[in-house]
Amino acid sequence: MALTNCPSCNKRISDKAEACPHCEFRLSGLSEEELNREWSHAVQARRDKLISQSMLALLIAIAAFTYFFIEQPIPGTWQSHTANALMLIGVVWFVINRVRIMFLKRSRR
Ligand SMILES: [Zn+2]
Repeated sequence: MALTNCPSCNKRISDKAEACPHCEFRLSGLSEEELNREWSHAVQARRDKLISQSMLALLIAIAAFTYFFIEQPIPGTWQSHTANALMLIGVVWFVINRVRIMFLKRSRR
């Protein structure tokens, strides 16, 4: 019994399973070609989601950065802390999403 990834939800499943036990995606009766097509659709959908998340993260970082330079909040105030935190969150979130996009293609098998 070999393990493969569900084309729909990307969880580890048996390649003998008739349907995915996690998301009930039908696997039996699908040719290798159809499975690959399902797979690339799923990867594309996940990538699109990650790309929009990373864009949102970048936007948050840029907004916080812009606020910091235009308003120049006094260090130690909550405005300054909030701007710093948002900048950090935005950058970290952006990096995490880019790394996840990078690993997305290689995650099969
Ligand atoms: Zn599944």
